[in-house]
Amino acid sequence: MFAEIIAVGSELLTPQKIDTNSLWLTQELNDTGIELAAKSIVGDDRVRLSAAVQNALGRAEIVIVTGGLGPTEDDVTREAVAQALGRALRFDEKICSAIEDRFRRFGRPMVEINKRQAFVIDGAEALPNDHGTAPGQWLDADEQGRVVLLLPGPPGELKAMWERECRSRLRARVPQQIIRTLHWRVAGMPESDLDQLISPVYTRYTNPVTTILAAAGDIQIHMRARCATAEEADRLLKEVADQIEPLLGDRLYSKDGRGLDEHVIDSLRRRGETVSVAESATGGLVAQRLTSVPGSSAAFLGGFLTYTDAAKASVLGVSEAVLRNYGAVSEPVAHSMAIGARERFGSDYALSVTGYAGPDGGTEDTPIGTIFIGVAGTESVEVKRFRFPGDRARVRSFAAHAALDLLRRRIAR
Ligand code: AMP
Ligand code: MG
Repeated sequence: MFAEIIAVGSELLTPQKIDTNSLWLTQELNDTGIELAAKSIVGDDRVRLSAAVQNALGRAEIVIVTGGLGPTEDDVTREAVAQALGRALRFDEKICSAIEDRFRRFGRPMVEINKRQAFVIDGAEALPNDHGTAPGQWLDADEQGRVVLLLPGPPGELKAMWERECRSRLRARVPQQIIRTLHWRVAGMPESDLDQLISPVYTRYTNPVTTILAAAGDIQIHMRARCATAEEADRLLKEVADQIEPLLGDRLYSKDGRGLDEHVIDSLRRRGETVSVAESATGGLVAQRLTSVPGSSAAFLGGFLTYTDAAKASVLGVSEAVLRNYGAVSEPVAHSMAIGARERFGSDYALSVTGYAGPDGGTEDTPIGTIFIGVAGTESVEVKRFRFPGDRARVRSFAAHAALDLLRRRIAR
C-alpha cells in the first residue's frame, strides 16, 4: 500500500522553514507497513494544491495533506481538497460550537473567521484537535478504499491527532506488513566499483530493496525488506546479505550502521590499545573524528599538527635530509612522522598524513590530491599512497577517512 504526503504552506517553500511533518509521518507510515509513493510541498494556493491532490490520488491509496487548516484567507486546504474530489463543503454546527467552547475556556470570544474551520468536506469525518482549533478530517474517498486525510500543520497538533485518531485506524486497514532493514558500511572503494560488484546480486530482488548511499570514501548499503511477518523479512534479508557479504571482504566494516570513527575507537578500547596522530594536510581532521566519539579518551592519546617542514623536523624528529631529498609529501616523510608520533606518545599505533590538498602545490610526480598515509604499529610501519579527487575540502575529508580505514585494517590483522 502506498501513501503520498502533501505539505502545505508557502513558508515551506522559502529557505527559512523546513517541512519536518512529512519526515515524521513517513516514519509512522513505514512502521505501519506503508511506503511513500511521493511527497510534495505546495504553497498556499488553491489551484496548485487541488492539482497536487488529484495527482496524488492517481498513484497512492492514502493521501495525507498537512497544513493550511487555519482560519485565515491563506488556509486553503479544505477548499482545495473539496474541489479536487468534486465535493461540497458543509458547515458543521457541532464543530463550530466546539471551537467556540475552546475560545471561551481561554477567556476570549471566537473571532468570526474561525468559522472557516467548521467546514467539513462532504462525507468526511471531523477529527478532534485537543491542541488547537483546527479539526482534522478523515475522508473515505471512493469504493477502492482510497483515504484522504487533512491534518494540522503545527507539528504538536499533527502528532497528537495522528496518534489519537489516525494511527490505529490506518493500521487496521493495511494488510499486516513488517519492514526490516540492514544498514551496512563499507570503506576503501568508490561507489561505482561497489555497485558493479554487488548489483548482480541485489538487482535480482525487488524485495528487499537495496540502496547505496555514498559520502567521501564512506559508503552505506541499505537493505529493506517488506513482508507479512518479521521472520519472512529477516529470511529474505539474510538470503541477499549472505550473497553480498563475501563479495565485500574486509571492506565491510560495519553491520550495525555505526560509523568508522566509532568502529575504530571501539576496537582499540576492546583490545586495550591506543593511538596517536601526526597530521599535516588534514590539519587535525583525523584527531577531530577520533575525538568526536564519546569515550575516545580511553584510546586516543593525542596528536601533532605539523604543517611546515620545520615543525615536522623539530616536533616529530623527521630528518632534515629526508625532507630535503624527498620533499614533505613523500613516503619516507609519512613513515618518519608516524614513528615520531608513536615514540613521543608511547601509543600502540600512530597515524600520519601528509599530502597536497590543493588548489596550490603539487608537482609532476606528486600532483594535487596525492596523500601519503602512514600507520606505525609495534612491529612495523606501513605507508600507503593515495590520489583523491575533488577540491580541497573533499581531498582532506577523503584523506581523514582513508587514514581511519588504514588503522582499522591494521588493528584487524
Ligand atoms: P498551518 O496549519 O498551515 O496554518 O501551519 C501552522 C504552522 O505549522 C506553520 O506556520 C508552521 O510553523 C507549522 N507547519 C506547517 N506545516 C509544517 C510542516 N510540514 N513541517 C513543519 N512545520 C509545519
Ligand atoms: Mg499555513
